[in-house]
Amino acid sequence: VAATPDRMNKYISTIRNKADDMANLVNELSLFAQIYNKEIEYKKGGVEIDEYISRCMSNLSLDLETRKIDFLYRNDVEKGTCLYIDEEKIKRVFYNVIGNAYKYIDKDLGMIFLHIEDAGKMVWVRITDNGSGIEKDELPLIFERFYRTDSSRNSKTGGTGLGLAIAKKIIEDHGGQIYAESEKGKGTKISFSLPKKVDEKKKI
Ligand code: ATP
Ligand code: MG
Repeated sequence: VAATPDRMNKYISTIRNKADDMANLVNELSLFAQIYNKEIEYKKGGVEIDEYISRCMSNLSLDLETRKIDFLYRNDVEKGTCLYIDEEKIKRVFYNVIGNAYKYIDKDLGMIFLHIEDAGKMVWVRITDNGSGIEKDELPLIFERFYRTDSSRNSKTGGTGLGLAIAKKIIEDHGGQIYAESEKGKGTKISFSLPKKVDEKKKI
């Protein structure tokens, strides 16, 4: 079938993409199973918020720039406040939620707003995008494993539908909550809470 070098290249790159998709699926499935079966321990520790966010964002910012997506960041929590988290696991949550915001943007000028708010012992992380939005009746389902909305199943955006199910489990294992608000056509806001590191000096 691959009669010309052009065709051959095309088929090889299709095979490569399919193999990558498959590898992704296996990775996500394996992480999902490990987290659910409590096979991995969380390695929680203290980390300053701004420093942590900039570390999480450093791998994402190139993607955002190349696709003309405006990224806004605002931290309303007292300077120097630390989170008490498993940095690697929470990074996966950031990657998936911001990755989703990025993936489902359908406007010429994309916008993603990352807002950190104080909530006493916890902080709220809110990620708002101006993308495709989600139908009201589908909103409660997006945190379920393998669920992808009708519009994303029919689109070219790849994915397994495990990202938010994994995110929910990781957030809940940190004592936090996660939920979504959305308006079809306008955009989506995903909010999750993370615990602060208790300041021993302030306890007395
Ligand atoms: P994966 O993250 O496993 O690669 P995925 O992105 O499709 O795949 P989830 O992250 O679990 O899966 O999201 C579930 C579904 O929720 C998505 O398929 C999409 O339909 C919808 N969704 C999630 N975030 C957004 C968003 N910001 N805008 C529009 N739709 C979204
Ligand atoms: Mg996802």
